[in-house]
Amino acid sequence: MSLFRDDGVVLRAQKLGEADRIITLLTRQHGKVRAVARGVRKTKSKFGARLEPFSHVDVQFFSRGSELVGRGLPLCTQVETIAPYGGPIVTDYGRYTAGTAMLETAERFAENEGEPAVQQYLLLVGGLRTLAAGVHESHLVLDAFLLRSLAVNGYGASFTDCAKCGLEGPNRFFSLPAGGVLCGDCRVPGCAVPSPETLVLLGALLSGDWQTADACEPRYWREGSGLVAAYLQWHLERGIRSMRYVEK
Ligand SMILES: [Zn+2]
Repeated sequence: MSLFRDDGVVLRAQKLGEADRIITLLTRQHGKVRAVARGVRKTKSKFGARLEPFSHVDVQFFSRGSELVGRGLPLCTQVETIAPYGGPIVTDYGRYTAGTAMLETAERFAENEGEPAVQQYLLLVGGLRTLAAGVHESHLVLDAFLLRSLAVNGYGASFTDCAKCGLEGPNRFFSLPAGGVLCGDCRVPGCAVPSPETLVLLGALLSGDWQTADACEPRYWREGSGLVAAYLQWHLERGIRSMRYVEK
């Protein structure tokens, strides 16, 4: 029997029997972890309120084995709130739908329980903090998170230099299989040809240039979101279900 302590973001909370829940977290040190929280569905359970989706928490786990993940589900024995991002997110439809797609995407990229996914964890915490602050359009926060999640998982896209030969940009032809834009010589059949402004926007979202992203015209935001969604879909076997609810 062992005790573990870790920071994590609550991805999901599912009912278990009358009063308990199975909580799915993306943790800093142990990647995705599922754990049982007992008695959290009783009214006025402070413990339960801390374990709602979007919450950034400090959790103590009790495991029957010597590892956190493996021998049955561990128990959540103590929870402290680091940041209650759920409050400002669930009360706003745009933030909620974008945030839900972020949680689902983070879980998909950190599919193997117990396997550390530190960069994905840090991206999720940063993304939820930005979303909760409400200073940028929710769909832009989501698209920045998706592009960076793809990048830290080995699918970084190029929106300026040619993804094949490296020719300095701007380049116009966007190819999903090539992982970004291609020059006139490298272009393949079936490329999209988005507006140059849209490619500048996507590069800005990937690098964190919010000034450029915020100032973009809404039609380029929409075109950019479409390309990001297609690129994500290309790399994940199954699509992200909650993407369909995101306001564009
Ligand atoms: Zn090229």
